[in-house]
Amino acid sequence: MTACGPVKGIWQLARSAQVYKASVTISAQGMVQIHSEDDGSLLQETPFAAVSYGDVIPGLPVDLVFADSSRFIPLDSRFRWPGMSARRTLPAWLEEHWLALFAAVLLVPAFVWLMVTRVVPAGADLAAVWLPDSVGEELGQQSLTLLDASYMTPSALTGEQQQPIRQRWQQLLAQLQLNSDDYPLHFRRWNYGANAMALADGTIILTDDIVQLMARHPQQLDAVLLHELGHVEHKHGLKTLSRATAMSMLFAMMFGDIEGAGEMVLGLGTSFMQSAFSRDMEHEADHYALLSLQRLQRPGSDFADALLALQSSHETAVQECRGERSAEEKRAAGLFDYLRTHPDTSERIRIARNFSVPE
Ligand SMILES: [Zn+2]
Repeated sequence: MTACGPVKGIWQLARSAQVYKASVTISAQGMVQIHSEDDGSLLQETPFAAVSYGDVIPGLPVDLVFADSSRFIPLDSRFRWPGMSARRTLPAWLEEHWLALFAAVLLVPAFVWLMVTRVVPAGADLAAVWLPDSVGEELGQQSLTLLDASYMTPSALTGEQQQPIRQRWQQLLAQLQLNSDDYPLHFRRWNYGANAMALADGTIILTDDIVQLMARHPQQLDAVLLHELGHVEHKHGLKTLSRATAMSMLFAMMFGDIEGAGEMVLGLGTSFMQSAFSRDMEHEADHYALLSLQRLQRPGSDFADALLALQSSHETAVQECRGERSAEEKRAAGLFDYLRTHPDTSERIRIARNFSVPE
């Protein structure tokens, strides 16, 4: 037993307003004595085991509570009784650490949100930019192989139908001072409507339906191709893979499942094919298309009209199958660029119509 005192304070009798100026001493033998400050007389003596501490409230003294409910209140509000720290109560702890608690409740989710929405994607994008070109080549070729094996069939368009589109594409690339070998154009049949797609190696795929949809408006198809070119130039394929990898690593770390992280990364090859470009990437590709149209001295409305045509052809397609799509159809639709129901298509159209850059 640690000896303690004398500690000056006030002794308050139980169920009474009566108080005495007094001092408490705790002896090494474990006896608690209260002496009057007025005349030094012994007011109370009790074994330490029979007393308890009052609540710990920061800024207030801690009472010594006796078996008969009388209390001794120290004058010094910061005074703590022997062995007190181990007896801290939860409410007191909360009061003292409200700032830490506030941080835990508000800042931790804010931090996670920031990591998930900003830091990890930005870091992953940066990593994707530094990946060697061979990674993009490999990814693009794997994607095309997978698409051909499971989702697409050879185009039904004749060589004469394809030729003028290839020619326009090569002209566009030449005008933008890009090498046409880097952006091979492929035509494929696909059951779910008009669409276009860019792969990580620069390959661009047009479905037969989009060629037919825009047969009379080749400038709309050009605008679509420029949007796809934007995905390639901004490395959106690699960035999507890189973001997904980084995100599963983050979640693995957060939930402490580091072993599972490896499996997740391995599984990404297939899940990547089912994930679309993010909305910010779509806007970036739109912006690329609009800037390129401007360089080519063409109106942004070419792209707006293309979006409008795709939107209405998609709505017709949905109506034809009575709005019900199987999970497989939805997955197939998600692979491509435009058939996903973009919640912000009208916003994209508005931006395209009003696009202008100060000279
Ligand atoms: Zn896109």
